[in-house]
Amino acid sequence: MNDPVTALSGVGPKRAETLGKLGIKTVEDLLRHYPMRYEDRRKPVPVGALVNGEAALVRVTVRRIIRAPMASGASRLSRIPMKVICGDESGEMTLLFFNARWMSGVFNEGIEYWVYGTPRRDLAGVSMAHPETEPVPEDAARGVGIVPVYPLTAGISQKYLRGLVRAAIPRAAAAEEIIPDEILNERRLAPVSFALTNIHFPEDEHALSAARLRLIYEEMFLFQVQVFYAKWNRGDGPIGDGSSVEEPSPIGPSPIGSVEDAEKLFPYALTNAQRRAITEIRSDMTGKGPMRRLLQGDVGSGKTAVAEAAAYFAAESGFQTAVMAPTEILAAQHFEEFNKRFKDKGIRVALLTSGLSAAQKRETKEGLQSGEIQIAIGTHALIEPDVVFSNLGLVVTDEQHRFGVRQRLRLREKGEAPDTLVMTATPIPRTQALMIYADLDVSVLDEMPPGRKPVTTRYINSEKRNDAYGFADKLMEKGGQIYVVAPSIGSDTLASALELTEELTARFPRRRVAMLHGRMKGEEKEDIMSSFVAGGTDMLVSTVVIEVGVNVPNATMMIIENAERFGLAGLHQLRGRVGRGAEKSYCVLISDSDNELAVRRCETIARETDGFKIADLDLELRGPGDLFGVRQHGLADFRLADPAKHMDILKLANSDAQALISDDPGLCSPEHAPLRRLVEGNYTIQ
Ligand code: ADP
Ligand code: MG
Repeated sequence: MNDPVTALSGVGPKRAETLGKLGIKTVEDLLRHYPMRYEDRRKPVPVGALVNGEAALVRVTVRRIIRAPMASGASRLSRIPMKVICGDESGEMTLLFFNARWMSGVFNEGIEYWVYGTPRRDLAGVSMAHPETEPVPEDAARGVGIVPVYPLTAGISQKYLRGLVRAAIPRAAAAEEIIPDEILNERRLAPVSFALTNIHFPEDEHALSAARLRLIYEEMFLFQVQVFYAKWNRGDGPIGDGSSVEEPSPIGPSPIGSVEDAEKLFPYALTNAQRRAITEIRSDMTGKGPMRRLLQGDVGSGKTAVAEAAAYFAAESGFQTAVMAPTEILAAQHFEEFNKRFKDKGIRVALLTSGLSAAQKRETKEGLQSGEIQIAIGTHALIEPDVVFSNLGLVVTDEQHRFGVRQRLRLREKGEAPDTLVMTATPIPRTQALMIYADLDVSVLDEMPPGRKPVTTRYINSEKRNDAYGFADKLMEKGGQIYVVAPSIGSDTLASALELTEELTARFPRRRVAMLHGRMKGEEKEDIMSSFVAGGTDMLVSTVVIEVGVNVPNATMMIIENAERFGLAGLHQLRGRVGRGAEKSYCVLISDSDNELAVRRCETIARETDGFKIADLDLELRGPGDLFGVRQHGLADFRLADPAKHMDILKLANSDAQALISDDPGLCSPEHAPLRRLVEGNYTIQ
């Protein structure tokens, strides 16, 4: 199984390179390159019963071959195909092969072939262009079988890959079983060799579903084992004997401010949920090992304040904090917010993004290295190798699903086992969160700051578009600000945003209309955003860069054009940009789509405001996509499994993995050796 694919006959260095593009390097990779679908070629259809346009298998005898005329290149003759006349008792058909003179030796008159393709019926009779064919073996009682259809890349044909997988199938017998026998028996799961064979060439539907079930379970089981293994062996030290090596957190033993002191930082009273989260964080930070906490809270629930309190604890004990945000705009806004809190407290906050000038960056880097700057807020720029901290004690990642595990790890490595707080607004239903983030402790902000009025949401079609903008104008008259999310028609978002901006500038000559889009330079974006934040712009037309985190309390209306483009989570996030101040806010979804799912998404958003409820509904409406952030979690390699569809299997895998790890936390028993090798190979816990 670990042999390179070149060990299979027919694979030279060139083919191996092309297969590499599909992620196939070893025989095991090949066997784990699962089909994306199957074609049922078990029952041949009589030629006379072929239906125009419906792919089918026929069993025919070749009667006559009409070779294509000799012709080269662009000659008109080259457009005349080779024709193979064939048929069965029920009728005759013609196979057409264009530009395929090399095929002339493939067929022999009087021989029987399986032919699979899409028939065309017209006045000239029945034909199939470029069908797949193979001679019928002498003992063939039944059809070709259930045939896998694989994802391909240029230079690798379906037929070639099928042949290659078939040649590799005997090696599946040597596949290592990572699921302990006890679990296989109890859950009635197929052994790995059966699964790897039947996922490609199943005997029948039952074998296929048994194979799929086993492989889906395996993916989830492996994922859960890693999560629990990490939880039990939390330190970052060597994982050898399974004893947990806890590195002391740097802040732990230092004196630390109180929750009451932290609360005084803010001009408002904390919500109970915020106070609870801050208390949990404080106790993590004073604990022995490093904190690893996930802060989950709907948009607008006030996660920033919690991060600020944590940074305050770190600074009070003499440690630095790094706050990483996914966009420059968001980093800039956090920077302003943190500055407000800490300016008069003698705590220095600096911004570090790639958009800054070289001189600014240098100054900040020097300040971080010397320890003069206590809090660094930035984007990916923070993880550059030349950013050095003098004593990094706390790492905060905002909108954590936007970052890869590696990136978060690299930031953490800039300190010695610093405390970690990851924040997300992506609402994950609680049970799922516990499974997916079992290696993290979770705090939830389940309460909104007081005075929030739910955003009134309307779902309209473009006939009412005019009224929506008329209403927007009234709000602007009263001093409100408006977000307009620009449509992306076709592939050119920028062009449509430009067009919309022109339209609105013309329509509202007295208003200040600005545009913000993803391709602008960091500086330019920040200028436009800070003008909007400061009230210097009335209407901001934007592509989706505002999706994340931006806070403008005076913005009281959001108009989303072509709302069908967004998923539920995306719409909810977008709407979360308004309703952040004391004034009543509105959200208008404009869509003419009659796609059933799109309509239901818009209706759902118009009806529901609770992020957690929306997350649950999202699960019903579609797969998990971005919602879960599972893939981004970096632990899960789900090819067949889908946590939304296979929740019941995930639950089983969850409890099995938990039981396994509590029996054998170090995976030391010989029976768990294969599992342990796999888990250790992937050991990249954030
Ligand atoms: P999110 O959780 O989406 O990141 P923010 O941290 O941006 O939310 O907070 C949203 C808004 O709520 C900000 O304007 C913030 O100042 C305000 N806010 C946060 N906590 C409170 C509170 N306890 N009372 C009143 N306003 C608050
Ligand atoms: Mg936020």
